[in-house]
Formats: sequence, structure tokens, C-alpha cells
Amino acid sequence: MTTTLTLDDCRRLDAQDPLRALRDLFTLPEGVIYLDGNSLGVLPKAAPARIALAVTQEWGTGLIRSWNEARWFDLPQRLGDQVARLIGAAPGEVVCTDSTSVNLYKVLFAALSAQKKDSGRTIVVSERSNFPTDLYIAESLCRERGLTLKLVDDPSEIPAALTAEVAVLMLTHVNYRTGAMHDMAALTKLAHDAGALAVWDLAHSAGAVPVALNDADADFAIGCGYKYLNGGPGAPAFAWVNARHADAWQQPLSGWWGHAAPFAFTPGYRPAPGVGRYLCGTQPILSLTALGCGLDAMLAAEPLGGMQALRTKSLALTDTFIALVEQRCPEHFALVTPREHAQRGSQVCLRMADPSQRIGGPAYAIVQALIARGVVGDFRAGDEHMPDILRFGFTPLYLGFEDVWNAVGNLAQVLEEEEYRRPEFNTRNAVT
Ligand SMILES: *Cc1c(COP(=O)(O)O)cnc(C)c1O
Repeated sequence: MTTTLTLDDCRRLDAQDPLRALRDLFTLPEGVIYLDGNSLGVLPKAAPARIALAVTQEWGTGLIRSWNEARWFDLPQRLGDQVARLIGAAPGEVVCTDSTSVNLYKVLFAALSAQKKDSGRTIVVSERSNFPTDLYIAESLCRERGLTLKLVDDPSEIPAALTAEVAVLMLTHVNYRTGAMHDMAALTKLAHDAGALAVWDLAHSAGAVPVALNDADADFAIGCGYKYLNGGPGAPAFAWVNARHADAWQQPLSGWWGHAAPFAFTPGYRPAPGVGRYLCGTQPILSLTALGCGLDAMLAAEPLGGMQALRTKSLALTDTFIALVEQRCPEHFALVTPREHAQRGSQVCLRMADPSQRIGGPAYAIVQALIARGVVGDFRAGDEHMPDILRFGFTPLYLGFEDVWNAVGNLAQVLEEEEYRRPEFNTRNAVT
């Protein structure tokens, strides 16, 4: 650091922030600086009344008529069109439905079907540091189909791993722990050059960083509704399929909602055209309604510059956080998230600088002490491949630079006063 950042600098950045007004679209608890929007997004202000309307009027009064009259029936597609605007997809290419895990099963199955049986392609490549549920789902499909899941330890090993035996490269665009971001276009091209398909998980990308699925010519993608999209706990996730694959392959969960004519009630399955076939059963309308509120709030940024403006602010927020941590708490932490903008998502992860505190050190207790002070980040336990990390997500829709200043101020105090040594911060909860 050559220059020192001050509170006045942060206030000036807030005053100049073109997205500042968007904060009013969310309900944020008093006294909380929320740096966990990458795990569970906040409540859109419009959601309680909108959900109450769906309950009392659409359900209570409209009853079954609401499938048509309240347009419940095509809600997965209508919300999918909103998501499409955030991820560089076209209208009609995305549905909001099921969970990220379930959608991954569907698209990975379809991607594997798209490789000819006699092609000799028997490997799915992913990263050991991928979100475990993605690996569990891939494991199950590989077991079922007699394929091998090959995990690389470092992204630099991906090119060499893309041999002629690889069917699918399955990656999460922004790593959930480190916040490191892949070059989607470059890796998709590498996969295609090797004859493999590219399946992308956008759980930490949709609403967080600009994504250009069609420009990158990706094959399949899925993503999460309850993180940066602020869709509520357990919100429906989404699935995107490249138009060239949409009608060509089927997903395995051939339920009636993915049928071409569900209300014909015919005994044989005929998949709906396009991405509609990625639905399975009756959709969770109340949850989809909540997700719609999150998407509306997200898309309110469009007239202000949309994802590009959000990205500019997100990088400025994470740059500020990194600079302040290095300024106020030198020696304590090492940066896990890449400094290079092109490789950084919308979060910053720290680990303890002292190698002896790499695992089982004070990281967990520091996060708990911060939460007690109203600065909500989270902790992710390490293993033999990764240190324990302190994870801070930055959502440019509702965070400001003074928030960042105050968050780091609290972090510095937790360390200076050794608050993290208190016993109440050293017992583990079930959900970290
Ligand atoms: C959050 C996240 C998930 C969550 O999956 P669910 O099915 O919603 O529990 C999956 N994959 C990645 C990469 C994630 O970050």
C-alpha cells in the first residue's frame, strides 16, 4: 500500500456511487453489515407483500384458477427470461426450477448423452476444490454410466487433463471458497477443441459478475437462486441449455411438467421443445414468487448500467476491503482470492498468515466474534488441500464503501482486543 485509505475516502466513494439508491430495494437489519450475500441473499423489500398476495389472493381466492389467471403455469420460464438477461443468454433458454444440485444432475446427464456411446470418452473432468455437491452429483452419474470423475488440484492442470477420453469439463465459474474466477470463454474453447462439452455452475456468478454464456459458446449451465439473486432460503435454481442442444437431448427426470403436452395426460413421454423439458414436477409457486422479487430488484440495476456497473462497483468494494485489511490488520491474514480483477469473483477470502494456524487456528472464532458485532461473513473449514478460510461476500446492490470501512474496523478490533479467544466464539454451530 502506498496510499492510506480513510473513512472520508469511503464516504466519497459512496457519494459518487451511481448504484447507491438500489439499497432501498432491500430490507437490511439495523446494525448489520451483511457480507454473506454469496451464501444467502437478503430480503427484497417488495417480497413480503408480494408473497402475501400470492398466498391470500392467488392461492386463497383464485385457487386452481391461478395456474392460468395468475400465470403460475409459465412462471419458471418467465423468471428464466429474467435470469437470461444476467447471464448472456437469450429469452426462452433458461428455466427457474428445482435446486442447483438437481439441475446439475439433469444437465450433466444430457451433456453425457450428447457424447456418442462409442466415442471412448469416459472421463468427466472437474476440480477438487469444486463445491462438494457438484462432485457428489457427478460421482453418482459417473458410477451409473461406468465413467471416471477426474479431479484436478489446480486450474493450471485443466488443459493437460482435456485428453481425447474426456466427455465433459464440469466447472464452477467462481470458486465458492476462494472467489477465484475462471475464464469461461477460454476454457470452453479448450474443452471444445478437445472434443469435450463444457458444463458451468454459475452459483457464485449469476448476479455477481457478468456472464456471457452464448458468447462463450458454453454447452450447459446451472446456477443458484438464493445467493446473489436474493430469491430467499432454498429458492429455485436455474438451468440453461445452449440452443444447439436444447431439442437434441433429454434430461433424465422426465416428469409431466417437462412433457410437450402435460394436460393431454397421455401415457407416453414426449419432451417439451427447448429448455421447458428441464422441468420435472409441479413447481413451487410461492418460492418462485419470492425469487421473482429478487430478480426484479437485481434487474432494477439495468437502467443504471446493469451487470457491468455492478461489476465495477463489486471490484471497487473488494479492492477497498483488501486494501483496508492490509492497512489495518497487517501480519494477521494472507489473501486467498486473486488480486487480478479478471480472476476475482465478488468475494474476498482470507486465511491466517501464520502457517501453524492454517487449520484449526482462530479463523472460526474470528468470524464468530465478527458476527456478534453485526459483521456477518462466514467460515469454511479447510482440509489437507485448503486452509481454513474467512469468507466475505460483497453484493454491490446494497453494500457501500463505508460498510467496508466499518467491517474492517470491527475485524481490527476483534484482533487487537483478542475478542476471538472468548469461549462463546469457540464452539461450533451445525451450520457455518
Ligand atoms: C451454493 C452452491 C450449490 C448449492 O446447491 P443446492 O442444490 O442449492 O444446495 C451448488 N453448487 C455450487 C457451486 C454452489 O456454490
